Amino acid sequence: MIIVMRHGATTEEILHVEERIRREGLQPHRSGGVDTTVIGVIGTPPYGMLDRMELLPGVERVTRITKPYKLAAREFTASPTVINVGAAAIGGPGVVLMAGPCSVETREQLLTAARGVQAAGAHVLRGGAFKPRTTPYSFQGLRDDGLALLAEARAETGLPIITEVMEPSKVPAVYEVADVLQIGTRNCQNYPLLHEVGRTDKPVMLKRGLGCSIDEWIQAAEHIMDQGNMQVMLCERGIKSFETYTRNTLDLSAVPVAKRLSHLPVIVDPSHATGKWYLVKPMAMAAVAAGADGLLIEVHPTPDTALCDGAQSLTIENFADLAASVQQIAQAVGREPAALPEDVPVAAG
Ligand code: PEP
Ligand code: MN
Repeated sequence: MIIVMRHGATTEEILHVEERIRREGLQPHRSGGVDTTVIGVIGTPPYGMLDRMELLPGVERVTRITKPYKLAAREFTASPTVINVGAAAIGGPGVVLMAGPCSVETREQLLTAARGVQAAGAHVLRGGAFKPRTTPYSFQGLRDDGLALLAEARAETGLPIITEVMEPSKVPAVYEVADVLQIGTRNCQNYPLLHEVGRTDKPVMLKRGLGCSIDEWIQAAEHIMDQGNMQVMLCERGIKSFETYTRNTLDLSAVPVAKRLSHLPVIVDPSHATGKWYLVKPMAMAAVAAGADGLLIEVHPTPDTALCDGAQSLTIENFADLAASVQQIAQAVGREPAALPEDVPVAAG
């Protein structure tokens, strides 16, 4: 249920509505738009509540949300969600760049990538410590040692960290190091894991399941939000199709669709979507033109030696080229370059 307050409703009226929601045993979630206040109601409304709320002073209208997701629904808030990560405001006017290696491999590899992507304009450093690999015989990640290296990279560069958590029992360890908890495509519908990250206070990036419809993906986000964590961003990373030239098929229409259905920020990962480094820049530019709030890009100092996903990884130079082109597209479609942290030392090297 959502309660839209009348234009010019007083603070007293808004507080009164919120108090009445609590008295019904539910929680209010207030959001302010340009000239309206919307109060989302968290929980299942008891019989007759809609009628009771409609009578309160300052209330314009009360609507029931009939979709299978409520907290993630566009109607639930008056304005899109903005998630602050370091100095970046994801979902704000700027396009946020998250970049780094597929996997953390060595200290030197990670720090070289971190310094390189930071100098090129990245706002967040990516790097997998726990890797979901299709075959058990591939490199599975440095696990806890990888987390320690990510912490070191964060301490040196000041870049916030996004890294994947694959199992509920590892949420506390990843939480210690990560600024954004990443849920990978294979775990998009792993509900125990979604509930566990939903009980934390860190932003979560939820990758679309490779076989998930947009509706299923947003319902997965709802599982996280239903546990109390509203800081969820969606990430389109390509879905399975009959096409084999690319690793997956980037569903760019999912960007405006998800933004129409939901208030959550939408990120695009053209690296896993295409599987080929030379397709990453054109798809990154197209994603920003389609309205993406940010990009997740794999960058490796030497892609030909990468232990994972070298074929889709950009060199640092190619990432710098992508960042410049993306900014041009961002400006052309009325977005801004996202602010870089002012207090972060740009490391030499
Ligand atoms: C990743 O980003 O490291 C990753 C494994 O991606 P996905 O879950 O989209 O395959
Ligand atoms: Mn990868």
